[in-house]
Amino acid sequence: MYEWIFDKQEALIKKHGTRDPFELASALGIIVLFEELKNIYGFYNTVCQIKFIHINASMEYEEQRFTCSHELGHAVLHPDLNTPFLNAHTLFSESKIEAQANFFATHLHIPKEKVDGVTTKQALLNYYGVPAQMERFI
Ligand SMILES: [Zn+2]
Repeated sequence: MYEWIFDKQEALIKKHGTRDPFELASALGIIVLFEELKNIYGFYNTVCQIKFIHINASMEYEEQRFTCSHELGHAVLHPDLNTPFLNAHTLFSESKIEAQANFFATHLHIPKEKVDGVTTKQALLNYYGVPAQMERFI
Protein backbone atom coordinates (compact mmCIF):
# COMPACT_ATOMS: atom_id res chain seq x y z
CA MET A 1 0.00 0.00 0.00
CA TYR A 2 1.26 3.52 -0.79
CA GLU A 3 4.90 2.75 -1.71
CA TRP A 4 5.31 6.35 -2.93
CA ILE A 5 4.49 7.63 0.55
CA PHE A 6 7.16 5.37 2.06
CA ASP A 7 9.68 6.68 -0.48
CA LYS A 8 8.91 10.33 0.31
CA GLN A 9 8.97 9.65 4.03
CA GLU A 10 12.27 7.75 4.01
CA ALA A 11 13.91 10.52 1.97
CA LEU A 12 12.69 13.09 4.46
CA ILE A 13 13.88 11.13 7.51
CA LYS A 14 17.27 10.51 5.92
CA LYS A 15 17.76 14.13 4.85
CA HIS A 16 16.89 15.61 8.24
CA GLY A 17 18.15 12.81 10.49
CA THR A 18 14.98 12.58 12.59
CA ARG A 19 11.49 11.04 12.51
CA ASP A 20 10.16 13.47 15.12
CA PRO A 21 7.25 15.35 13.48
CA PHE A 22 7.96 18.62 15.31
CA GLU A 23 11.62 18.57 14.25
CA LEU A 24 10.68 17.69 10.67
CA ALA A 25 8.10 20.50 10.51
CA SER A 26 10.72 22.94 11.76
CA ALA A 27 13.29 21.66 9.24
CA LEU A 28 10.75 22.16 6.44
CA GLY A 29 9.96 25.73 7.51
CA ILE A 30 6.43 24.84 8.59
CA ILE A 31 5.10 26.93 11.48
CA VAL A 32 3.47 24.84 14.22
CA LEU A 33 0.90 26.66 16.36
CA PHE A 34 -0.80 25.40 19.53
CA GLU A 35 -4.32 26.80 19.86
CA GLU A 36 -7.65 26.26 21.59
CA LEU A 37 -9.55 24.22 19.00
CA LYS A 38 -12.29 22.54 21.06
CA ASN A 39 -13.16 19.17 19.46
CA ILE A 40 -10.73 19.62 16.54
CA TYR A 41 -7.35 17.89 16.95
CA GLY A 42 -5.62 19.99 14.32
CA PHE A 43 -5.48 21.19 10.75
CA TYR A 44 -3.07 22.31 8.03
CA ASN A 45 -3.26 25.39 5.85
CA THR A 46 -1.16 27.81 3.86
CA VAL A 47 -1.29 31.60 3.97
CA CYS A 48 0.72 33.49 1.34
CA GLN A 49 2.67 30.26 0.65
CA ILE A 50 3.65 29.93 4.32
CA LYS A 51 2.68 26.51 5.68
CA PHE A 52 1.01 26.20 9.08
CA ILE A 53 0.16 23.22 11.27
CA HIS A 54 -2.40 24.03 13.96
CA ILE A 55 -2.60 21.73 16.97
CA ASN A 56 -5.08 21.61 19.83
CA ALA A 57 -3.24 22.97 22.88
CA SER A 58 -5.46 21.03 25.32
CA MET A 59 -4.54 17.52 24.17
CA GLU A 60 -2.00 15.14 25.70
CA TYR A 61 1.51 15.23 24.22
CA GLU A 62 1.10 11.86 22.45
CA GLU A 63 -2.08 13.10 20.73
CA GLN A 64 -0.38 16.35 19.75
CA ARG A 65 2.55 14.42 18.33
CA PHE A 66 0.32 12.13 16.23
CA THR A 67 -1.72 15.15 15.08
CA CYS A 68 1.50 16.92 14.05
CA SER A 69 2.52 13.82 12.07
CA HIS A 70 -0.89 13.63 10.35
CA GLU A 71 -0.79 17.31 9.38
CA LEU A 72 2.85 16.98 8.33
CA GLY A 73 1.61 14.20 6.05
CA HIS A 74 -0.73 16.68 4.37
CA ALA A 75 2.06 19.29 4.12
CA VAL A 76 4.33 16.77 2.39
CA LEU A 77 1.78 14.83 0.34
CA HIS A 78 -0.93 17.44 -0.36
CA PRO A 79 0.83 20.81 0.08
CA ASP A 80 -1.68 22.83 -1.91
CA LEU A 81 -4.89 21.38 -0.53
CA ASN A 82 -7.07 22.90 2.12
CA THR A 83 -7.48 19.82 4.26
CA PRO A 84 -10.43 19.07 6.54
CA PHE A 85 -10.14 19.46 10.30
CA LEU A 86 -8.72 16.42 12.04
CA ASN A 87 -10.99 15.11 14.77
CA ALA A 88 -11.85 11.74 16.28
CA HIS A 89 -14.09 10.98 13.29
CA THR A 90 -11.31 11.71 10.78
CA LEU A 91 -9.18 8.91 12.24
CA PHE A 92 -11.73 6.51 10.67
CA SER A 93 -12.16 8.52 7.48
CA GLU A 94 -12.33 6.59 4.22
CA SER A 95 -11.37 9.67 2.23
CA LYS A 96 -8.20 9.15 0.21
CA ILE A 97 -6.26 12.14 1.47
CA GLU A 98 -7.14 11.40 5.09
CA ALA A 99 -6.11 7.76 4.69
CA GLN A 100 -2.83 8.91 3.15
CA ALA A 101 -2.13 11.34 6.00
CA ASN A 102 -2.97 8.66 8.58
CA PHE A 103 -0.74 6.17 6.77
CA PHE A 104 2.12 8.71 6.71
CA ALA A 105 1.69 9.50 10.42
CA THR A 106 1.47 5.83 11.46
CA HIS A 107 4.67 4.90 9.66
CA LEU A 108 6.51 8.01 10.82
CA HIS A 109 5.92 6.79 14.38
CA ILE A 110 6.55 3.09 13.78
CA PRO A 111 9.97 2.25 12.35
CA LYS A 112 10.45 -0.98 10.41
CA GLU A 113 12.73 -2.55 13.04
CA LYS A 114 11.01 -5.13 15.24
CA VAL A 115 10.65 -4.57 18.99
CA ASP A 116 11.28 -7.51 21.32
CA GLY A 117 8.15 -8.69 23.10
CA VAL A 118 5.77 -6.65 20.92
CA THR A 119 3.89 -9.27 18.95
CA THR A 120 0.47 -7.85 18.07
CA LYS A 121 -0.56 -4.84 16.00
CA GLN A 122 -2.36 -3.26 18.96
CA ALA A 123 0.72 -3.70 21.17
CA LEU A 124 2.86 -2.09 18.47
CA LEU A 125 0.49 0.89 18.16
CA ASN A 126 0.40 1.26 21.93
CA TYR A 127 4.20 1.03 22.20
CA TYR A 128 4.68 3.92 19.77
CA GLY A 129 1.74 6.01 20.99
CA VAL A 130 -0.29 5.66 17.80
CA PRO A 131 -4.14 5.68 18.00
CA ALA A 132 -5.69 2.20 17.94
CA GLN A 133 -7.74 3.16 14.86
CA MET A 134 -4.52 3.06 12.79
CA GLU A 135 -4.40 -0.75 12.93
CA ARG A 136 -5.56 -0.92 9.30
CA PHE A 137 -2.39 0.84 8.12
CA ILE A 138 0.10 -1.67 9.49
ZN1 LIG B 1 -6.26 15.30 7.71
